[in-house]
Amino acid sequence: MNATPIKLPCPECEEGQLVSVIGNFETACDGQSVIVPNVAMECCSSCAESFLTPEGSQQVAEHLAKVSGSLEPAELKAFLEKYELTHREAATILGIGEKNFSRWLSGKQRISTSMSRYIRTLLVHPDAFETLRTRNWMSSEVAAS
Ligand SMILES: [Zn+2]
Repeated sequence: MNATPIKLPCPECEEGQLVSVIGNFETACDGQSVIVPNVAMECCSSCAESFLTPEGSQQVAEHLAKVSGSLEPAELKAFLEKYELTHREAATILGIGEKNFSRWLSGKQRISTSMSRYIRTLLVHPDAFETLRTRNWMSSEVAAS
C-alpha cells in the first residue's frame, strides 16, 4: 500500500503523471540561492519537472520569511492597527499598490527585506510614520514655524 495516488498529467510535457513527493526545493531570495527542505511538491514521472503544491508554496514562503527576516503578515496587521489604517491608506502611505498589500497580508507574497526594514522602523517610530504620512520632509522645527 505504498502507491502514490496518480494526479493530473504533467502540464510541461503532457506525457508523464504528477506524483506527490516531499523534497528539497531550490529557489532564490534577494539574489541568493536558498534550499528549502521537506517541501510538498508534485513531480512528473516522465520529464522530472516539479511543481509546488499550494501547501508547498506556503512552506517556501514561510522559510524565505525566516531566512531573510522578512516582515510577517501578523506584523503587518499590527502596523495597520497601530496607526488605524485601511489597506488602501497603508498602501498609499507606503507607496505601493493596494493589491500588493493584500498579497502581503494573506502571505501570498513575501515582503522584501528592504520594505520589511522600512515598515519595522515605522512601527517603532510614530514620528517617522507621521513624517511619511504627511510627506513633510522638512524638519519638525521648520514645519512648526
Ligand atoms: Zn512532464
